[in-house]
Amino acid sequence: MTGKCHCGRVVFRVDKDLPDTGGRCNCSFCSRRGWIGSSATLEEFELVQGQEVLRCYRFGAGRSQNFFCGECGIHTHFYNTYDDPPDYKYNLACCDEVDLSRLRIVYIDGRSY
Ligand SMILES: [Zn+2]
Repeated sequence: MTGKCHCGRVVFRVDKDLPDTGGRCNCSFCSRRGWIGSSATLEEFELVQGQEVLRCYRFGAGRSQNFFCGECGIHTHFYNTYDDPPDYKYNLACCDEVDLSRLRIVYIDGRSY
């Protein structure tokens, strides 16, 4: 499955089956940006293009690196070090193959991390 930002400069690929669940997090950042994400291991996630336009936002203890397109502003993925081993979370809304209306939503209590 592939995902891309709005302007198409940032493209990522996830080497796994389409998820049937989407994670919504209640942390101060995810709740504001309306994030619906899923997880991929470091091996499953690949940034195909857009490294040169990617920007990174860190907050709090700086343990997650939130990547977004510097051109269109869409958040595509983040590098997550809250879990061991670290992994990537990617934005399911960036993936054309994913029908958001069919996902079972799982709520993540990121506010307590
Ligand atoms: Zn973009």
